[in-house]
Amino acid sequence: MAGHDGKIIMFIGDGMGGRDVPSLGGKTCLEAANTPSLDALASGGASAMMYLANPGQPIGSDTAHMALLGYDPHRYYRGRGPFEAMGVGLDMQPGDVAFRCNFSTLDDNGIIIDRRAGRPQTGTEELAAAVVDAFKDGIDGVQVFFRASVEHRAALVLRGEGLSYHLTDVDPHSAGVKPSLCEPSPDCPPDEIAAAERTAAVVNAFVEGAAKVLDASPVNAQRAAEGLPKANAALPRGAGEAVDIPPFSTMHGGLRGGMIVEVDLVRGLGDYAKMDVIRVPAATGRRDTDEIAIAAAVVENLPKYDILLCNIKAPDLGGHDRDPEQKIQAIEKVDRAVGHLLDNLDWENTVIMVGADHCTPIVTGDHTGDAVPVVFYGSGVRRDLVHTYGERAAAAGGIGQISGADAMTLLRNFVCRIDKFGA
Ligand SMILES: [Zn+2]
Repeated sequence: MAGHDGKIIMFIGDGMGGRDVPSLGGKTCLEAANTPSLDALASGGASAMMYLANPGQPIGSDTAHMALLGYDPHRYYRGRGPFEAMGVGLDMQPGDVAFRCNFSTLDDNGIIIDRRAGRPQTGTEELAAAVVDAFKDGIDGVQVFFRASVEHRAALVLRGEGLSYHLTDVDPHSAGVKPSLCEPSPDCPPDEIAAAERTAAVVNAFVEGAAKVLDASPVNAQRAAEGLPKANAALPRGAGEAVDIPPFSTMHGGLRGGMIVEVDLVRGLGDYAKMDVIRVPAATGRRDTDEIAIAAAVVENLPKYDILLCNIKAPDLGGHDRDPEQKIQAIEKVDRAVGHLLDNLDWENTVIMVGADHCTPIVTGDHTGDAVPVVFYGSGVRRDLVHTYGERAAAAGGIGQISGADAMTLLRNFVCRIDKFGA
């Protein structure tokens, strides 16, 4: 029996849920994968099916992780921009409008020929510094903050009075066309149109000015000399407004939370929620990630926290690539990580939930609103009759059907770290 100091782990295989795959004989990737450790959790624990939001609603990794951490995305989510910005280390204040940006390649006619500028490995910090310098006096009274991240990724933050985040993307999400003009988005409330028009004008001035500065940069002269695509544009998308959210520990009775995750957006959410974001250099967020290094970091850090959130990105990549073998290999990575936890933690005093933040089925190549299988194992969990981990098996689980918002409540209940409702 746990005391009142039991540890909690939430372990997410990103996009790990799926649908029946014809080439796998109608099994899902989870069902086709070899997952001895996940099956051991199912045998010794209790399974459930989880809708992250309302049943059938496809959901992003950002909103899904918000729900899992107990933040109602319908209340707190105002676009992905703030998570992107915090994820790359830009500071945010309530009211700021933030964007993800791509360094992209424009030809002489302003047509996008590479949305990711050949995924530059070096030079983007210097490029970002040139952009920052160009806008050091702001645009029309609005302060401009810009920072480069990994490869082609960057973020933009606008700070000023009367901004709106109800804006369309400048990045048209495909090559062969010019960048789109930023405009008020179709869902912009009527009383925000004027603010959105003003903010859009600032964004368009940023895009135009940044392209001039970037094209003139010595970094791009060097790239051109080496036959590499120039990173001569910075294209914003995913506008979002920074809001005040309660810290994670306030939401959850003082529990101290940390995260070891591979998705920038989720790291940004962690910063936002004042959780500790623990970096593991071998966690690449790609297929080559070192799952044992991730699990070892969980084992190492758990004594310092009440709860750790962990996310391995690779299964989602296999789903988006519509490649069942790749997704199965990624799921087997998740399984090995879980195996390391099984072997190295005190399960009398620890509870884990393993699940997914959404389905990314092979047959759709994108997120769907199907329920994901989850399994709870460890301290306090009443064992059910399920013996394997997968979509069909979990549907017979002892916990039944839950929503993403239930995850923290269930986990806190298992280790008796939640107050009674009523007398
Ligand atoms: Zn995801």
